[in-house]
Amino acid sequence: MVVVGVVLIVLALTVVVVAPRVLTRAAWTIDRPRTALVSWSAAVLVGVAGFVAGITLVVVAGRPATDPFAVRGSPAHGLNVGVALVAVVAFVIAVRVRPGPEQDAVRRAMHSGATPHREIGGVPVALVEADHALACAVPGRAGGVLVSTGLADQLRTDELEAVVAHERAHLSQHHGIAVAVAESIERAVPWVPGARAMARSTRVLVEFAADDAAARRLGRDAVRRAVLVADGTSALGVVRASRLEG
Ligand SMILES: [Zn+2]
Repeated sequence: MVVVGVVLIVLALTVVVVAPRVLTRAAWTIDRPRTALVSWSAAVLVGVAGFVAGITLVVVAGRPATDPFAVRGSPAHGLNVGVALVAVVAFVIAVRVRPGPEQDAVRRAMHSGATPHREIGGVPVALVEADHALACAVPGRAGGVLVSTGLADQLRTDELEAVVAHERAHLSQHHGIAVAVAESIERAVPWVPGARAMARSTRVLVEFAADDAAARRLGRDAVRRAVLVADGTSALGVVRASRLEG
């Protein structure tokens, strides 16, 4: 059992080390962002589950089924169990997912009585009075889609619907969770290059995946025009627009 446990731990660590390398360097992720996001979520799940299962096997190895943790048995084994538990708790605390403070600010803005809501492409959207171009999606029951008047005023109807469809895709495909998990891992082990690359590529992949979802509803051209108006000056905006060409 100890051997199986050690093998599981090694396999889990291999998955965690290899997955970011494969996923952040492969060109196909640009064309299939959704597949890439699902693959890396699966890799993280497999890695964490394998790690926990491996530690458990090593800890309970050779113990009778009636008292697998043998807490009443040898003090040395009790210590092992304690160390394993502390390691798992430390891991959970280190990578725990926290919503950003900016999400609270957006939620407050959406629910203040002064913010008008408008139906855009069948979706109730909070229209916030602001000069700069802004669109975002906040997950959860108190969440939704928010667009600034500065952006809405610059867009044609189909472009505005494309922006809303893009933000809706972030919500329905749970991109917030993928980004939060990747950023939590990055915070927990910032010295691991794969963790930084993973977080960076997750932030990009969710934008590609949301663009693709919007393009399926409104067409690639409407989404491309909307991206150029909303985000045409950033490097990511330029890449997003060129992905949608043709
Ligand atoms: Zn987006």
